[in-house]
Amino acid sequence: MSAARCAPEGVFELARPEIRALTPYASARSVAAASGILLNANENPWAPPGGAALRLNRYPDPQPSKLRTRLAGHYGVDPDNLLITRGSDEGIDLLTRTFCRPGLDRVLVCPPCFGMYAISARIQGCAVIEVPLIDHGAAFAFDPQGIGTAPACRLYFLCSPNNPTGNCIEPAQVVALAEQVSNHGLVVIDEAYVEFQRGASLAKQVAHTPNLVVLRTLSKAFALAACRIGVVIAGAVVIDLLRRIIAPYPLPGPAVAAALSALSGEALKRQARQIRTLHQEKSRLLEGLRRHSAIRQIWPGEANFILIRAADGPALVAAARAAGILLRDQSGQPGLENAIRITVGARRENTALLNFLETWPP
Ligand SMILES: *Cc1c(COP(=O)(O)O)cnc(C)c1O
Repeated sequence: MSAARCAPEGVFELARPEIRALTPYASARSVAAASGILLNANENPWAPPGGAALRLNRYPDPQPSKLRTRLAGHYGVDPDNLLITRGSDEGIDLLTRTFCRPGLDRVLVCPPCFGMYAISARIQGCAVIEVPLIDHGAAFAFDPQGIGTAPACRLYFLCSPNNPTGNCIEPAQVVALAEQVSNHGLVVIDEAYVEFQRGASLAKQVAHTPNLVVLRTLSKAFALAACRIGVVIAGAVVIDLLRRIIAPYPLPGPAVAAALSALSGEALKRQARQIRTLHQEKSRLLEGLRRHSAIRQIWPGEANFILIRAADGPALVAAARAAGILLRDQSGQPGLENAIRITVGARRENTALLNFLETWPP
């Protein structure tokens, strides 16, 4: 029998008292849409050269409704279940500042994992509880039993496919954890790489699980890392709480315009082709890596990167760098001595890496 789901009011009670009591800042653009004669925001009435079409002299819509609608359609959720942020990094920060009381609340992470969860927690003055992924040799795995016996936390950060290990978590396990901790915490599932996985997103599940939060981003498969567009998907109670503390104008107009283009039917078809190409390229890289004598272990994972263990990881990263190829040293993460994360690039980039590897070790 699963634990009772918490009512939406229950999630509200999990927010910091200061945030529950806060009346958000009412910016000019949040009070009135930008139509008519605009004498309410102390802007310059003239657009800069070349900036008229994008209305660069005007403050942007805090949550551009066109982009919200497009993203909601793309993720299959209601627009009220979505907050657009400056990358997922901001989503992680907003969640931590909204729900975690400094010195009192704890945040759970499952290393090896993305570093920003623990950084945001420490900035907020919260203890970080680590329940490492289980290392099965061939793959890493989520440890629900370990999480079950850990001290109660306010936020549980999970990532699927996980960076840097590439393993996925069964959606049912994520929902089960959310139900299990609903009295005291929220489960945040970071789906930054879900587009590469051909698997199911938990986005639609937020309508049924008030303490479940899904993070999506346009930084990876959508090729918009420079635009800083992330999306928090959650029940309306959580979204309303996060909106109280987000910066008044987080989304620059040019970034919003680029995001809308990236969501066009044509662009989505191009993205699907690129993902197929990256899968082919990943297979080609894996073949080369498997034949290499100085590579001890390979975790192919389900994202657009490969994790490997080399005989001497830092030496390989340094030698590649000297050859003009940047790889990500992961040897600082627990359990990842000598590990390196390799992003799957374009064909000629991957070929350059394979050619370099033929010359290494010298
Ligand atoms: C790259 C990445 C993100 C994306 O962060 P943005 O701030 O949206 O660019 C989020 N989570 C993980 C695990 C990542 O690897």
